Parts: sequence; structure tokens; C-alpha cells
Amino acid sequence: NVNKTNNVKVETNGHDNIKESKVVKETVQDLQEARRQLPVYMVRNRLLEEIKKNDTMILIGETGSGKTTQIPQLIHEQRLEGAGTIAVTQPRRVAAITIAMRVAAEMNTDIGSIVGYSVRFEDVTSPRTKVKYLTDGMLLREAILDPLLKKYSIIVLDEAHERTVSTDVLFGIVKLAQKERADKKLNPLKIIIMSATMDVDTFRKYFHNCPVIYLEGRTFPVTIYHSKMKQDDYQYAAVCTIFQLHATTPANHDFLVFLTGQEEIETVMYNIKQIAKEATGPPIRVCPLYAGLPAAKQLQVWREAPPGTRKIILATNIAEASVTIPRIKCVIDTGVVKERTWSGGTGAERLAVRAGSQAAGWQRAGRAGRTQPGAAYRLFTADDFRSRPLHQTPEILRCPLASTLLLLIAAGAEPSTFPLIDTPPPDSVKASLTLLKELGAIDSEVNPKLTVIGKKMSTFPIEPKYSKVLLSAPEYNCLDEMLSLIAVLSSENVFHTPMHKREEAIKVKQKFLSPLGDHITLLNVFKAFCKAPLKKQWCKENYLNHKNLTYACEVRQQLLAICHKLNLTVSSCGQAYDQVLKCLLCGLFTNCAWQRGGAAGGAGVAGRYVTAAGAAAALHPASALHAARPAPPVLLYTELLSTSRTYMLTVSAIQPQWLHQVAPEYARRCRANR
Ligand code: ADP
Ligand code: MG
Repeated sequence: NVNKTNNVKVETNGHDNIKESKVVKETVQDLQEARRQLPVYMVRNRLLEEIKKNDTMILIGETGSGKTTQIPQLIHEQRLEGAGTIAVTQPRRVAAITIAMRVAAEMNTDIGSIVGYSVRFEDVTSPRTKVKYLTDGMLLREAILDPLLKKYSIIVLDEAHERTVSTDVLFGIVKLAQKERADKKLNPLKIIIMSATMDVDTFRKYFHNCPVIYLEGRTFPVTIYHSKMKQDDYQYAAVCTIFQLHATTPANHDFLVFLTGQEEIETVMYNIKQIAKEATGPPIRVCPLYAGLPAAKQLQVWREAPPGTRKIILATNIAEASVTIPRIKCVIDTGVVKERTWSGGTGAERLAVRAGSQAAGWQRAGRAGRTQPGAAYRLFTADDFRSRPLHQTPEILRCPLASTLLLLIAAGAEPSTFPLIDTPPPDSVKASLTLLKELGAIDSEVNPKLTVIGKKMSTFPIEPKYSKVLLSAPEYNCLDEMLSLIAVLSSENVFHTPMHKREEAIKVKQKFLSPLGDHITLLNVFKAFCKAPLKKQWCKENYLNHKNLTYACEVRQQLLAICHKLNLTVSSCGQAYDQVLKCLLCGLFTNCAWQRGGAAGGAGVAGRYVTAAGAAAALHPASALHAARPAPPVLLYTELLSTSRTYMLTVSAIQPQWLHQVAPEYARRCRANR
């Protein structure tokens, strides 16, 4: 019975869109017919032969050809996985969830039985699960418990071209596991690497010259248009382009717009809805698609709009290759991505909106030509496009490695000899090992072993900095507060500030504001949310994001369960918020910034700070401390965001001497550098 809601998780999680989760209205016959149309299906016999024959293979095929949804099913139909399970990794959680749901529907089974998924903070599998979609990060965590990954007979590393740190590390883990299982005469491991595009030679070499199979795609021509002039505001440019096209193209042409994140998507969505009221053209349905979106809302994207209505999908780069949305005729590409980068030597981490690669540009454009000829509108000039790098730099070369190294060490690997396709800069490895040492997670930077604390830290699915905070919390009597705070920090922005009601939203937010800064402010919000009886209504009245706060509650539950397993005492420090901030500093001590010219600088230099790494940084205007006078001399920030300048996000004021109290070794090193 395909019509019944097959989205168990949505109901138990208390998400509010149960009705919308019934969007899978296609019958079993429809779904089977659609399967038979896919390029992968046409060549299934040959593919299965190759899969049977080879221990390791690389499979390249155009996005939408059926790699991710079909190949695991074909394998399972032939029972090639034997007594084991098929694991299929995805770089993003939305992809893992939506694809697992699609496959469960195609197999006419409930999600969580034969087909399941496992993503951070959510495991929808059972002992019967044979086809398991999971994020690369989750498989990496499983490798800690069993580096040989024995329960899997086939591991599919999908979207390999994305080169996330976790996928890169998994290449090494599965390669070593395959060899060791063979050497020890254990059940063999089959490895399948799948990708839309890839630098195949490097991969082939890495996997002992394994065979590469190319799938013929079915694509239609896509006409590409570039902006004639440089666009200063890509969100604005996107909205303008949407309405120009809206007025001139037939209603059955759906649009796909690439943006960088939830907040941006929500702003653009609001603007579209406002303008649509007066615009000429057919009615519009706007569907967002980003990582944190509840599962039921995600499915909206695949639902056909009523005849005569235009569907406009606003997506992050998840829609670039991980998921395929049919019927897209126009792609609007802002040309930007949100990327985490890190300058290894200095330890400054940035979340920055940057220009995407040429490969990403082609992938995005390709989404318009899946089912008919289409068009892609690039909101940047042709010269700009040509000046971009061909491929994105693999994440491992530009990201903090502390959490990855912690997992590697926990899985028994030696970081200096572990086989990686691309070796990260030695500076970056060294800085991460230093951080792990200073967090007390490893005993030494050379030939490191996990300490007792490090072992506990590795059981939390969060950055080592934050797991250290949780483990330090009982000492400060504030685990109750830290669980809430870290849960809120794990979700996207809980404040909802619609542009048209900015003033009002800011006024309402006042009641949560703490003079100590954003962390305590967030805590106030979360506490009030937990107490509110009618949460949805309450959020609306208080300009808070109900979805994100609900997600934070789930995360808190998960973290709490781990704390219970580790026998940590959950107690509250009441109003003694100094304890909360000191405890936060135990993990985030590398995130301090000092006022330029010292406190003597006075109010005139408010907002001008220098980080421990020596970078100039300003308080973000949205910070609770933005208006504080005099400006606090020392700040603890959660994130640095670089746009036209570098901003500190989610910030608290701390006492200068605290750093020496909680991290004396680091404080000394820091002072020497400053
Ligand atoms: P690939 O991995 O090769 O990019 P997929 O297996 O993800 O391709 O998708 C194959 C086809 O299945 C897509 O072209 C799309 O039409 C369909 N499809 C995938 N996921 C969904 C979904 N959640 N809802 C509806 N159709 C889907
Ligand atoms: Mg795929």
C-alpha cells in the first residue's frame, strides 16, 4: 500500500507536516514504469555482471540516470549482498533520507525495514535492513566500532566527486578493510565508487587500477546565458531573473534556483511570494530544499504542481548532483556556494560564500536538460566563469581536521601513514593534532593514542570542541544548560527575522537578550520554547523558527542519551551563567578575540577585534553584544563568517582571566604569539 504514509520518522518526531508526508501518490505500477525508463535499468544485466566480477569498481553516470536509487535495488534483487548489508553513502543528510524514502516506495516497503537510512541524530533502520543509505560521516562513525565494517558485504561510496573529508577518509578505510578481510579470510568486501563526474585517473590509481564503467546518459541540450554585467547582489539578481522568466515562459516550465543556505532561501522565498501577488504570469508554488528541512517538506519538491502552476525550487547545492528533480526547464545559477575553509596554521575557521567551480556550474546547468531541452541562466559573466577553478578543492585540503583525525585515531589508524588520495597540508594536520592534544583527547602529537577523555569525545557525533564542552560540564554543574546550548548551536538560526517586520522582530527578541551575549540569549530562547505550551503559535508570536527549535530538541535528546551512557551527571547551574561560559571556553578556547588597542580603546572601536590567529574581526550586527557599551574587552565567538569583512557570530563576553584558568597551556602559547 504505497499510499499510506511511509514516513514513520516524521510522525514520531513530532514534525508538523504529516499531511504533506502523504505526497507519494504514485502507484506501484507508476513507480515500476518509471524505473524501467532509467538508463541504469536498460543496462542492468551488464552492470550486474560487472558487479559480480569485480571486487572494486568505479561507476560514472550523468545525474539522474538511476545510480543511487537503482543499483542498490538491482544488487538486492539478485541477493548479491548475501548475508550482509549494502551500505550506500551520501555526503548530505537530506539526500540520504529522501533517496531511502524513494527506494522504499519503489520497493513497496516501509522505510526502516528492508530499506533504511542512518544520518546524524536519526537512525531509521532495523536488523532486517539490507539496503542502508547513510551519510559518509555516519559510516565513518561505524568504522570506529568496527574498522573492518564486517556487517557490510557491499559498500557504495556515492557522489565521490564531492570529495568531502568523510568520503576521502572512507576511501582509505574501505580499501584497508577490503584487504584485511581478504587476508584474514573473512567475508569479502565489494567496493563500488559512484559519481556524476570525476577525475577518474587519480581514483583508478588509488584503487589498484580497478575497472571504470561509464553509463550512457540521456540528456537534452541546455542553452546557457550569462549576465552581461557583474551582479553585486545575487539574491536580488535571482529574484529579478525569476520574474522576468516568469512573465515570458509557459507555466509548465519549472525553475530551479541555486542559493547557498536556509536563511537565504527563506528570504528569497518570502520575496517571491510578495512579488508574486502582483506579478503577471501563472500562479507560483515555491519549494525550498536544503539540508535542515524536515523530511516531509523535502518531499514537496518532487510533487507535481497543479496544472497551470509554476513550481520554483530554491535549493542549495544538494540539487547539483545528489538528488534529481524532474521537469526542471530553467536553472538559475547564482554561481555561489557556502564553503567551510580553514587556514591551518592560524586555526581560523571560516564559513564563506564563494564562487563555485566550473564543474559545479556545468552540473547545475545540466539539471535543466533531464527530461527536455532547457536553459540555464548564470547570474555572473562569461569571463567570471572562465576565471573560476575547474574543480572545487577537496574539502580535506581546506577544512579543520580535528574531528576527522579523532575518528581516524579512534578507528585505530595512524594519521601519518593512513592512505589518503590527497594529503592535507602538514600545517593543517599539525594544528589539528595540537588542538586535540590541548583538548586532552590524545596523549601525544606523534603516534597519538586516544586518552580516556578522547575516547568519550569520539562517541559524540559533534566536533571535538563541543564534545569536550559536554564532558567538562559536570565539573561546572551545567550539563543541563550545555546540552540545550549545543543542541541549539547544532541547528540553523532559531531567530526568524522577516525583512518586512524587522523592527518588530528585533523588539520582540529583546526579552530574550542577555547582557552576557548570544549564548545565554540562545539558552533563554530554548528554555522558553521548552516551557511554551502551544509551541508553533508561540514561535510565531516571538519571531522564532519553530522547525529549527524542534530540531534542536531532538538533537538534545540524542546528546542526552549519549551522556547517560557515559554516566555523566546532568545538573543545572541555575542562573550562574558564568559557569556556562567558562564551560564553553573549555572546548572553544581557540575562539577568543581581543578588542583592538585593549579596553582603553573605548566605545569608539566597538566591534573591532583581533582573533587569536591575528585576524581582524567585527561583531556581527545581529549579535546581542553589538550595542553593548563599553564594548567587552574579550569575546568568545562560535563562528567566523567572511563576507566583505570578517564577522564573529554567536558571541559572548568573557573575563580575561578565564582563558588562563581553563586552558593555561593554550593561553601561554597565545600570549607568546600576540
Ligand atoms: P543518479 O544517482 O544517477 O543521479 P537517482 O538514482 O538519484 O540518479 O535518480 C534516478 C531518477 O529517479 C531521477 O531521474 C528521478 O526522476 C527519480 N527520483 C529520484 N528520487 C526521487 C524522489 N524522491 N521522488 C521522485 N523521483 C525521484
Ligand atoms: Mg546519485
